[in-house]
Amino acid sequence: MLPRIAIIGNGQLGRMLKQAGAPMGIEVLPCDPSLDEPVELKPDDVITVEQELWPDTPRSRQLTAHPGFLNARATQLIRDRLSEKSLLDHLKVGTAPWCNVTPDHTTEHLALVGDKLVIKRRQGGYDGRGQWRWKQGEPALDEWLGECIAEKMIPFDEEVSLVGARGHDGKCVFYPLTLNLHQQGILHASVGGLKRLQPLQAQAEEWLTRIMVELDYVGVMAMECFVVDGTLLVNELAPRVHNSGHWTQAGANPSQFQLHLRAVTDLPLFTPAVDGLSVMWNLLGRDWSTDWLAVPGCDVHWYEKDIRPGRKVGHVNLHRGAVADLQASITQLAALLPEDDRSPLHWALHEIQADSSA
Ligand code: ADP
Ligand code: MG
Repeated sequence: MLPRIAIIGNGQLGRMLKQAGAPMGIEVLPCDPSLDEPVELKPDDVITVEQELWPDTPRSRQLTAHPGFLNARATQLIRDRLSEKSLLDHLKVGTAPWCNVTPDHTTEHLALVGDKLVIKRRQGGYDGRGQWRWKQGEPALDEWLGECIAEKMIPFDEEVSLVGARGHDGKCVFYPLTLNLHQQGILHASVGGLKRLQPLQAQAEEWLTRIMVELDYVGVMAMECFVVDGTLLVNELAPRVHNSGHWTQAGANPSQFQLHLRAVTDLPLFTPAVDGLSVMWNLLGRDWSTDWLAVPGCDVHWYEKDIRPGRKVGHVNLHRGAVADLQASITQLAALLPEDDRSPLHWALHEIQADSSA
């Protein structure tokens, strides 16, 4: 009998973990940690997370006190950018120059890091929230002091991420690097399987292995990176399945969700088989249309959340075995969208075209 998996968090990631467990009869129980009522847990349940930070409630205390709770140290270190960046430095993993913004910080201290900085709240930021831009000559805001880190603004060429997993036996496996399009700090689209990113793969895998080994981590972890002049700098880590790995639902076997379930329940792990190129387009604060289902290779994942401006309410995966077919599908889907919404798909189309003609 496989153990049941309780998830701290009941958003779309927990929902998709549950969907991934269903075919194998693995029971996945997403739990809202903000509620007080305890969950009925069994002694051999495995507890894992879909978010890094949660409120202190009787339920969250119950879940984290359970002996099956995995990755307590990793989650604790990664949820605070101060300890996260310190970990990267300690492991000699490349990252943007930074400093802790202490309670007595002045603009002179900030200027030591760089002329242009990104100030990031240590805890709780996501989708670019809890961040400020700072330039030499501008004042430091009081609300940053003791609450933020300051990071050098990196004039990166592009953003990529590595999604991998480590098993109980220490085995690490990875997907190919994903190319990500962020706008205003939020992920709009990803392309998985690009050949031109292969030269960066070994460095990325080496770093993420080092991090997962140091944390004695089990499960899927994601590492977001900047690419600058053909080299990587790690931006941040996520001790969980990640939005930039959603394309694996369509273009890889197993998907990142099944890979995580395999890792945490000690089932066989191997390097996922990846079938060519895939595109993921995030539905941000917008509805979808059943017309899109006429596009071959187009899968809609709807999270059944209320639509609010900018909110991630679903994603669309596009995958077809042949590059020309994938290009045709992207073009077909883009034509069904209002002009203002097409740019992430056009970006993906351009990337695929460049990769296949290289
Ligand atoms: P979040 O937790 O909100 O994803 P990130 O640290 O990943 O926070 O920042 C969101 C986005 O903001 C990044 O994907 C990147 O586009 C931009 N960004 C973050 N840090 C820097 C930096 N040091 N230099 C340039 N851009 C940055
Ligand atoms: Mg990020």
